[in-house]
Amino acid sequence: MDLETDLVVIGGGMAGLIAGTIAAEAGLDTILLRKGQSATAYSSGAIDVIGYLPEASEPIISPEEGLFALSRLYPLHPYNVLGYDKRIEFEKVMENIVGRTKDTVTWLKAHLDGTIAPLMGDFESNMHPITILGTTKPTCLIQKTMHNGDVQDREDSVLLFVGIMGYADFNPSTAAKTYLEDRMAAAGPPRKVGHCIIQVMPFGKPYNVSSIELARHLDHEGSIENLAEQLKEHIEQIGATHVAFPPVLGLQDALKNKEKLEELTGTTVFELLGFPPSIPGQRLQRALETIFTKAGGKMLLGHEATSYLKVDDNLKSITAASPRREIKIDAKAFVLATGKYIGGGIAGDETGLRETVFDLKPVTGDYHSAMEIVPSRFTSRLSISPTGQPIQSCGLSVDPRFRPVDEDGLEWAKNLFAAGAVLAGYNYSVEKSGLGVAATSGYSAAKNAIEFIKEVA
Ligand SMILES: Cc1cc2nc3c(=O)[nH]c(=O)nc-3n(C[C@H](O)[C@H](O)[C@H](O)COP(=O)(O)OP(=O)(O)OC[C@H]3O[C@@H](n4cnc5c(N)ncnc54)[C@H](O)[C@@H]3O)c2cc1C
Repeated sequence: MDLETDLVVIGGGMAGLIAGTIAAEAGLDTILLRKGQSATAYSSGAIDVIGYLPEASEPIISPEEGLFALSRLYPLHPYNVLGYDKRIEFEKVMENIVGRTKDTVTWLKAHLDGTIAPLMGDFESNMHPITILGTTKPTCLIQKTMHNGDVQDREDSVLLFVGIMGYADFNPSTAAKTYLEDRMAAAGPPRKVGHCIIQVMPFGKPYNVSSIELARHLDHEGSIENLAEQLKEHIEQIGATHVAFPPVLGLQDALKNKEKLEELTGTTVFELLGFPPSIPGQRLQRALETIFTKAGGKMLLGHEATSYLKVDDNLKSITAASPRREIKIDAKAFVLATGKYIGGGIAGDETGLRETVFDLKPVTGDYHSAMEIVPSRFTSRLSISPTGQPIQSCGLSVDPRFRPVDEDGLEWAKNLFAAGAVLAGYNYSVEKSGLGVAATSGYSAAKNAIEFIKEVA
């Protein structure tokens, strides 16, 4: 079977879905393939733009401030590529970087409004949501269910961490202790923090309960009322004004469930930021897929780009394979948004790292060839270190239009654009920049692909 389209997007995480939505909204016939799950669905579901500079211990106050610092320290950082095309003087470049990042943040917030993952926050200052460990993390946009209201501003606030019997992924007493220690060190409210365990039994069993079972259960009618009944006793005991839940408040109706709980208990209820498997990450993934299909994009789930045809310096087609069929898709332009090790865009073995669809040449975070270096040489012996794992900075080097370049620095194909975690030159886990880089580069790669298609028309 053969198809013809304007744009093919390979990869269905944050970068690919934003690129696809922008293109479909611009009127391009757009096909997106996703072979499997994406890192986007494993994320906490909060969108980091820039939270820390590598090796710094103090968080960045505003994304704008962070972008300025990054541009000086790491000129080849993907955020800086946003500013390149009109490189005149530094101020103009910075204006582009900041303007385009801000545009992406605004676009994302507006588009996800009314979906199952509505966002809040803005570009002017980072927010500090609380995690399931009881720590806080700087991030640009959070899902509305994660908003902890005035818990850190109100002098009389009392916070209750709620655990769920049989749900091993969250320990409310450890979180409460860590959070209280942090707040005492900061000499700020809340001055009282408590914890409790309640029982939610998705399948009538109070053991081995998973986050997805809990989230689905809480979406059922009557579940929130039952939960509120149990909670009231614990809330009264410590006089809680705020209640923190692990991120399981619902897959479809999380915001409605939060608001209902607030109404029934008279407290501010919120979800903590969690680790995979992450319900808010899955909500974000599904919401992005919804806006893409709503814009008219076509999605091929379970299809992997396995081979391609390139004529001279133009990519002509790719082959998308699923267990049952193979489709050749011809297109005018392509966006490669296959992610890194989790998405599958970059892989490694004893011979070195490789890009998995076009066999492009990955580079290290310092932009040296990563092809013949075995992955173990890029991992630090300390699992958590201020500089992170160097392997996370490896990926593709791109030109000012986000087109992957070869060893000679020239674009590999005139009509192939890349975005997201497949790119080199940034370390999301230490910088806290993962979904921000994916969103902004996806947005820009799509704009560049649209421009390219217009140019050749
Ligand atoms: C555990 C964890 C927690 C995180 N938490 C946060 C957080 O709280 N905030 C934040 O901002 N960032 C976070 N990140 C980072 C963030 O999730 C990633 O940086 C971001 O999701 C990358 O998006 P992407 O679209 O580039 O790649 P991905 O989301 O990985 O998507 C890649 C897509 O490409 C598809 N694909 C790959 N190869 C092919 C092929 N050959 N054919 C077809 N499809 C293909 C995959 O199936 C997948 O759909 C976290 C990451 C992890 C792992």
